[in-house]
Amino acid sequence: MRLILLGPPGSGKGTQAQRLVHRYGIVQLSTGEMLRAAVAAQTPIGLKAKDIMAGGGLVPDDIVVGIISDRLDEPDMVKGFILDGFPRTVPQAQALDDLLKKKHIKLDAVIELRVNESALLARVETRVAEMIARGEEVRVDDTPEVLSKRLASYRSLTEPLIHYYSERRKLLTVDGMMTIEHVTREIHRILAAIGAMDAKSVKKARGEAPTRVVKAGRPVKKTAKRAGKAGKPVPKRAKKSGRTTGPGSKAKAIEGSKKFAKKPPKKRAKA
Ligand code: AMP
Repeated sequence: MRLILLGPPGSGKGTQAQRLVHRYGIVQLSTGEMLRAAVAAQTPIGLKAKDIMAGGGLVPDDIVVGIISDRLDEPDMVKGFILDGFPRTVPQAQALDDLLKKKHIKLDAVIELRVNESALLARVETRVAEMIARGEEVRVDDTPEVLSKRLASYRSLTEPLIHYYSERRKLLTVDGMMTIEHVTREIHRILAAIGAMDAKSVKKARGEAPTRVVKAGRPVKKTAKRAGKAGKPVPKRAKKSGRTTGPGSKAKAIEGSKKFAKKPPKKRAKA
C-alpha cells in the first residue's frame, strides 16, 4: 500500500500515519521528521533547513525531493509507505510523479484530512501541552505566530494539490474533525473500498479472523477441495459450521461472492 496523507498542520496526519503504520506494517515517510533529525544531527541539510523550519517556511524542493528519492531506494520500502508532509507543493508532486515512474512504483491513493481551520490552533496547543507533559522537547515551529504562517503556506502552496490529485483520480477525502478513532475507521473503509488493501488487511481492519483458518488449523479450502476431488461429501463438521468455500457459505460472502454467486447455472452444470 502506497499512500500520501494531505492536510494542514494539526489535522492529525502524524497520528493517522502512525496508526496506518501499526496496522499494515508500512513505513511512514515524514519529511518534517527527517528534517528535524537532520537539524538535530547538524548535517549539511540540517544546517540549511534549521532557520527556514523555525520560521515556518518551506525547505527548498531539491532538498526534500532528494531526501525522499534516497529513502524510496531503501529495502524496507517494499512493505509500502505513507508519505506525511510530502509533497507540499505542485512542483514537489510533479517531482514525486517522476520519481515513482522511474522507480516503477504505483501510488494507491492520496488521503486528504479535511479540517475546520478554527480548530487547528486548539489542536496544536493540545499537542504542545501533551509534549510538555511527556517531558518531550517542544517543536520550535509550534507557536501561534509560526502556525499561522504554516497555515498560510498550506493554503497557498499545498491546497492546490487537492485539485492536482483529484484530477488524477487519486484523491480520497476524509472528515478530519471526527474523533481519532472514527477518522482511522473511515480511512480503513475507503482503502478497502478502492481495493488498496489485500484481503488479509481488510479482515484485520474489520477485526475478522482470516477465512481460511479453521479451529483445527486446517485450511477450509483444501478440505472442501480434497473431499470434492475424491468424490466424497464435504465433512459434516465443515457443513454444520457453514465453513466451506462453495455457494451459500460464509467464506463466499466475504471473499468469493462474485466468483461463485455470479456463475451462470448452465456453466456449472457443464463443469
Ligand atoms: P511538518 O512536521 O510536516 O509540519 O514539517 C515541519 C517543517 O519542515 C515545515 O514547516 C517545513 O519547514 C519543513 N518541511 C517538511 N516537509 C516539507 C516539504 N515537503 N517541503 C518543504 N519543507 C518541508
